[in-house]
Amino acid sequence: MVLMSDTGGGHRASAEALQAGFEQLYGDEYQVDYVDIWSNHTPYPFNQLPKTYSFMVRNSLMWRIGYYGQQPRFIHVPTQTISSLFVSKQVSAAFDKYQPDLVVSVHPLMQLVPLRVLRQQARKGGRTPVPFATVVTDLTTCHNTWFHPLVDRCFVPTEYCKRSALKNGLKEDQITVHGLPIRPAFSGKIASKNSLRKKLGLDRHLPTALLIGGGEGMGAIEQTLDALDDRLGGACQVVAICGRNKALIERLQNRDFPGGLKVKLCGFVTNMAEWMSACDATITKAGPGTIAEALICGLPLVLNGFIPCQEEGNVPFVVDNKLGRFERKPERIARILEGWFGDSREEFLQIAEQARKFEMCEEALEPKFLEAATAGCC
Ligand code: UDP
Repeated sequence: MVLMSDTGGGHRASAEALQAGFEQLYGDEYQVDYVDIWSNHTPYPFNQLPKTYSFMVRNSLMWRIGYYGQQPRFIHVPTQTISSLFVSKQVSAAFDKYQPDLVVSVHPLMQLVPLRVLRQQARKGGRTPVPFATVVTDLTTCHNTWFHPLVDRCFVPTEYCKRSALKNGLKEDQITVHGLPIRPAFSGKIASKNSLRKKLGLDRHLPTALLIGGGEGMGAIEQTLDALDDRLGGACQVVAICGRNKALIERLQNRDFPGGLKVKLCGFVTNMAEWMSACDATITKAGPGTIAEALICGLPLVLNGFIPCQEEGNVPFVVDNKLGRFERKPERIARILEGWFGDSREEFLQIAEQARKFEMCEEALEPKFLEAATAGCC
């Protein structure tokens, strides 16, 4: 039983990756269910988590206050313990329904409460608790709620996250550094760029950028399209993936691009491996899932923003490892792509090569950043 929530797109993608990975390795030996405990198995207002998240992350100051306010153990442990008094009956019913042999959490708010409920159930039944693993889906700066000393195993993507886990009381032998769980479609046999472009309705010859803002379609997607239209016009095409941002899709559907930029507009897509493999570069906020997927596909990255706190460390992670550039201003992003698809092609090819061979578990970063990231304030 994998515990996830649609706060962003990364936790669902990780849950799907684990489900598909189990199936690939073990066939039908295991049944893997992924479940949003908070949305589907808790009462109001706890079941509003994804909506609250979506609102909060768009209000930077509010999100920072909430995030850092809950960072100390002496705050989040009592807060979540009190929450569990209100939700434990329903959460317990969910475990009764799914009868898991193993629980895996891919969400920072799904450690303390489920572990507490599983232990209560075990005590009542006179048996040992169901094994519990955490799979951390942030890359560098992680919230402390990810780390609970009672988990049987904690998988972290990078050495930085391992430091945070140790700082939060986990022992060396509880932690495995293992990269991020990425859906097997990214590592399987994928069709050639040419045939994917044909299948997806893209021009086969134009340089192509993928423009995305995580599962929620965040960031300056429309302004970036305008800037690309101004500077590159018909010399390139863009796949704009708006995720669950319906308002943005509706707005863009009624837009035209006077410079002649070709735009392929998508909502939430379920074949990201195909879209990425059909493109040449990615413009994205610093979401860990999108960064990891783009690297697998060898796509140079332009990071155009980040969710405050948990994604801040991902910017130096990409820039210091020479996997891409960070630039907020749409006009400058357009200038970077103009260079990459034109005079600075050499730089572009070098970054693409570095992305392809990059090993997440062995990354190198400025020690100064490392200190800041592990102190929880970047
Ligand atoms: N994603 C997807 N379809 C979409 C938009 C996003 O499958 O239409 C996936 C994307 O491939 C990535 C995840 O959602 O795996 C986004 O995760 P990330 O960590 O980049 O950002 P988040 O949305 O969690 O903030």
